[in-house]
Amino acid sequence: MLIKELGEFNLIKRLSAGLKPTREGIIAGIGDDAAALASPEGKLLIVTTDMLVEDVHFRLKTAKPFEIGWKSMAANISDIAAMGGEPTYAFVSIGFTRQTKVEFADELYAGMKEIADIYSVDIVGGDTVSAPQIVINISLLGEVEPENLIRRSGAKIGDALLVTGDLGGADAGLAILENNLELNDTKKHLMPIPRVKEARILAKSGYVTSMIDISDGLASEVNHICEMSGTGAHVHKKDIPLSDNVRQVAKYTNRNPYDFALYGGEDYELLFTCQPDKVLFLTEEIFKKTGTKLTVVGKIYAASLSVTIEDDSSKITPLYPRGYDHFANSNINKTS
Ligand code: ADP
Ligand code: MG
Repeated sequence: MLIKELGEFNLIKRLSAGLKPTREGIIAGIGDDAAALASPEGKLLIVTTDMLVEDVHFRLKTAKPFEIGWKSMAANISDIAAMGGEPTYAFVSIGFTRQTKVEFADELYAGMKEIADIYSVDIVGGDTVSAPQIVINISLLGEVEPENLIRRSGAKIGDALLVTGDLGGADAGLAILENNLELNDTKKHLMPIPRVKEARILAKSGYVTSMIDISDGLASEVNHICEMSGTGAHVHKKDIPLSDNVRQVAKYTNRNPYDFALYGGEDYELLFTCQPDKVLFLTEEIFKKTGTKLTVVGKIYAASLSVTIEDDSSKITPLYPRGYDHFANSNINKTS
């Protein structure tokens, strides 16, 4: 059945019927003029929003509606995690076309709900409209204790620069789909896992000085931290941990494997800084509690030394934030 046959209000009823609130702060949820939520006492409210547009951020040809729903929620959850917080309530606004089937909406919502449930996020409102292409906007609230808020701006000279997990896997997955490669490791592109548990442990340790999630590629994010912290940084290329699928996809596409990690993005791993003598403690702590590895990829220097990268032959070059720019490039990519 097409959505236009069902109608807007029946669709909203159908999509929201399956939502069972898990959190305690909902005074008024879906069905009123606005949601009313209890303010978290003694905590800061964090708010983030992301918009995804058909053929800019996803293609219906290569991504299932479930995956599109999952990923749009994952991107927002990752932003809350990067601030050191816990995600709480989501608002989901969607534009469907006149040709969109009800089953598409069901599956899109199922993907959002699945990841929302994993991270105890309640969907408490949104908007549903008709649009020439499918558009999804999620706004996500979160909360954090003031002492655990981690900004991009806290990096200090001498700090180590670390990442969680492996990088490049999402962009390699995208390359598999866009080039029709005979490979199937597309999971990191289609259904990324935000690092909420890791981010919370890092934030609560008191040792992390700055943090950001890697949505636009490592090069871009290192530059963001340095710009906000008033520092420079030096990255060692050989230390960047690459996802399993990267080398194979790099061979197929004739690209440098490290470019997937540096300039690809959408990995939704964390990039953060801490004093070098805290690296071992944090690495053991994160591995013990989450199974996720941490890797030192570089170090923070004075701003006058700028942001640089050293390759295998010890050649040092500037590391420019050559990530994805929506207005400079027409290829499919990025959610933020
Ligand atoms: P309004 O006319 O005030 O904009 P709507 O008829 O658009 O209200 O929405 C009715 C209720 O359904 C509101 O609580 C709104 O937040 C919620 N809602 C609308 N679309 C969605 C959606 N896609 N997901 C979740 N809640 C939605
Ligand atoms: Mg409305």
